[in-house]
Amino acid sequence: SLGSASKRRVLLKVSGEALAGDKGFGIDPAVVQSVAKEVARVVAEDVEVAIVVGGGNFFRGSSFSEELNIDRASADYMGMLATVMNALSLQSALEHMGVPTRVQSAIEMKEVAEPYIRRRCMRHLEKGRVVIFGAGTGNPFFTTDTCAALRAAEIGAACLLKATKVDGVYSDDPLKNPEAELIPELSFQEAEREDNIAVMDKTAVTLCRENDIPVIVFNIKKEGMLTQAVQGTGSVGTLIS
Ligand code: UDP
Repeated sequence: SLGSASKRRVLLKVSGEALAGDKGFGIDPAVVQSVAKEVARVVAEDVEVAIVVGGGNFFRGSSFSEELNIDRASADYMGMLATVMNALSLQSALEHMGVPTRVQSAIEMKEVAEPYIRRRCMRHLEKGRVVIFGAGTGNPFFTTDTCAALRAAEIGAACLLKATKVDGVYSDDPLKNPEAELIPELSFQEAEREDNIAVMDKTAVTLCRENDIPVIVFNIKKEGMLTQAVQGTGSVGTLIS
């Protein structure tokens, strides 16, 4: 359980891959709708929510730099721009549900989003607005998972909720191996050590460990899971702490 009111601030990481749904590319409006609905529910419970969105549904720097023969830093900037599109689509879905939001971009683009300003972000959260972070950390060679860990530490989030398409962390890839088993709890050390467990990149896990931010990996496709994860009730995916 997240305990006292001041602790009721969470950082939700939604990957681009999750937003693509079964399409595998671009944005599946049904997924965006359901993510927004889940977020609206926890906001209604007075939980302060900040969201980091990925961009892998449009562009992934590491793979595209090779494919398109673009230098890695440029490709990563393209990846960061992709996350802003996802941020805007999530913002629009949330606002349609009556949830006030702000998008803050780590790369300045003042026509579409506020710049990332930590103290302004905190103020938005205190006022019950959902803050959606676009453009990752603003730096190439990072991932949005690392961005999620970084922002969680910066805003003092009680936990990092990592939304995925599967139920949690498995002993093997559950989409390929039917024998793969769900691991309900994992230490940070184990998550950092195990090479076969691809939960988040190691930099992100290390940042969470160093800052005592538990990570909950859960299935965003299952209705009510985000609420359960926030309330600490029922069995929700995998807890890394
Ligand atoms: N990216 C980056 N710096 C950051 C965050 C993201 O350079 O701080 C780039 C990187 O190229 C990455 C892309 O943006 O591949 C999309 O982000 P990510 O792969 O983390 O998205 P996800 O896997 O969550 O969809």
